[in-house]
Amino acid sequence: MTPELKKARENMDPGIITAEGFLGSDSRSLSTIIDEDAQLLRNFELEPADLAERFRHFMEEGRKGLGEPVTVDSDWLVKTDEARGHLACPWEDGIFRKINVTVERKDNGEKIFFTDLSIHLLEAHGFLEGHGSSFRLEPELINKLLK
Ligand SMILES: [Zn+2]
Repeated sequence: MTPELKKARENMDPGIITAEGFLGSDSRSLSTIIDEDAQLLRNFELEPADLAERFRHFMEEGRKGLGEPVTVDSDWLVKTDEARGHLACPWEDGIFRKINVTVERKDNGEKIFFTDLSIHLLEAHGFLEGHGSSFRLEPELINKLLK
């Protein structure tokens, strides 16, 4: 692992940036998680930049509900929950608002949770969080939610 990746990995432990940390129960190395998730995204033909744009759109539309669920683009129900303060990226290249976003697809009930930071992690680092993390962006689930 590069020193940069090693530092990011250390910052992902529980209690450093968030109480829960970023890796859940995943025992794979950070570089393996990123490589394997990049492959999964490709299998589903999901582009990180496109996903980041769509998630950001859901978040910004959802915020208009001021905590109440909002229908976005007819097919999705979005709820946001904002807390005070900011969270640093584990790569130490930015800080992000504490906005939790829940997106539910109305016709199949699939649901995904993410934060302002998750969007950055996906877009800038190709990192979807570890298995078992509350905010993991599971490619199969993203696919069911968006397709
Ligand atoms: Zn970053």
